[in-house]
Amino acid sequence: MKNIVILGATGSIGINTLDITQRFPERYKIIGLTAKSNDAKLEDLIKRVQPKVVALQDENAAQALSKRLPKSGPEVLAGQAGIIEVARLSEAALVISAIVGSAGLLPTLSAIRAKKTVAVANKEPLVMAGEIIQREAKENGVTILPIDSEHSAIFQALNGERHQDIQKIILTASGGPLLGLSAEEKTNISPERALAHPNWKMGPKISIDSATLMNKGLEVIEAKWLFDMPPEKIEVIIHPQSIIHSMVEFVDRSVVAQLGLPDMRTPISYALGWPRRQETPAPRLKLEEIGSLTFEAPDPTRFPALRLAREALKAGGSAPAALNAANEIAVEAFLRKRCGFLDISRIVEQTLEASRNRSLDSLEDVLEADAQARETARNCI
Ligand code: NAD
Ligand code: MG
Repeated sequence: MKNIVILGATGSIGINTLDITQRFPERYKIIGLTAKSNDAKLEDLIKRVQPKVVALQDENAAQALSKRLPKSGPEVLAGQAGIIEVARLSEAALVISAIVGSAGLLPTLSAIRAKKTVAVANKEPLVMAGEIIQREAKENGVTILPIDSEHSAIFQALNGERHQDIQKIILTASGGPLLGLSAEEKTNISPERALAHPNWKMGPKISIDSATLMNKGLEVIEAKWLFDMPPEKIEVIIHPQSIIHSMVEFVDRSVVAQLGLPDMRTPISYALGWPRRQETPAPRLKLEEIGSLTFEAPDPTRFPALRLAREALKAGGSAPAALNAANEIAVEAFLRKRCGFLDISRIVEQTLEASRNRSLDSLEDVLEADAQARETARNCI
């Protein structure tokens, strides 16, 4: 029996995780759940899985929930301190990191410091502080398992392989809902249109990141830290059908790919059950129904976000944290109709240009770089 905590339980990854764990009540026990402010949704989840402890970032929402729950219900904690307490629960064996954005950094790091195995969907902390996270994971003997579908594919392809035999990691990208559009056509794109991903149903932030291809840029940085690969060995290829989830090329020119219909329950299940596999409700891949798989090189002029992420990774230091912070601010502004779609990458680029790059030796350095870039990005808007 594995005791599990889900950080970001009310989100797309959180709900998909519960869908898997609830099919195997003899294997998984959910002991802790966290969310930002949706107390009604968290209450539904509490009824479904009866955790021991829950936490809401929003103090008022936590208070409201606490009043409604019966005496026999879970303990309700509040604020970031509450979320961190859930991330460190002594009985937990596996923590699912599924908060969106930089808000997941401290909880994820806290789980690592408490020596929990961590399954990471929340890529932004790795982008901001990949070196620190990997260093602390090593020091604490912690295994980090990928949930992001591309990284799960690579992790699966690398099973039993030697690091020195890897020639290249090839990340596939669907290209998002605006793939064929010119810059002109993207100028007045509405948030609703940019949110409508053709293959995946995800939270709003990652959906916009998929439309700009910043998501793939963040994933290049994520892959660097998860698989200890230099940036020049990480390639991106557009594959609109999202059937090949990523590939690894080895020194003998053999390329190993992982395939499946786009359904996050497969990579989530792999992280939950690792090193074993288990059945999932994901539909079967029937290649004869798909017909053809197509590929194209990403056009750097159409997708400046991918170039910016690569530049930030090359620059190192605080640049990836600044990239991530500016992107979070810009995506939020776009969703609130306070800037246009093409402005997202412009804001990120201007923020990077205006930010002084320095080395990130401690968590405090990361938080400072993050805060400064946010301020710069807000001023750009
Ligand atoms: P989502 O918006 O659906 O859910 C986010 C969760 O985080 C919610 O439970 C929310 O309550 C919580 N949260 C948000 N802000 C918070 C804050 N400030 N403090 C505490 N909790 C907060 O997002 P999602 O699509 O599930 O994505 C979660 C993470 O997983 C992201 O980093 C995303 O890039 C990554 N990811 C998602 C998918 C997917 O299919 N959805 C695939 C790969 C990777
Ligand atoms: Mg992905």
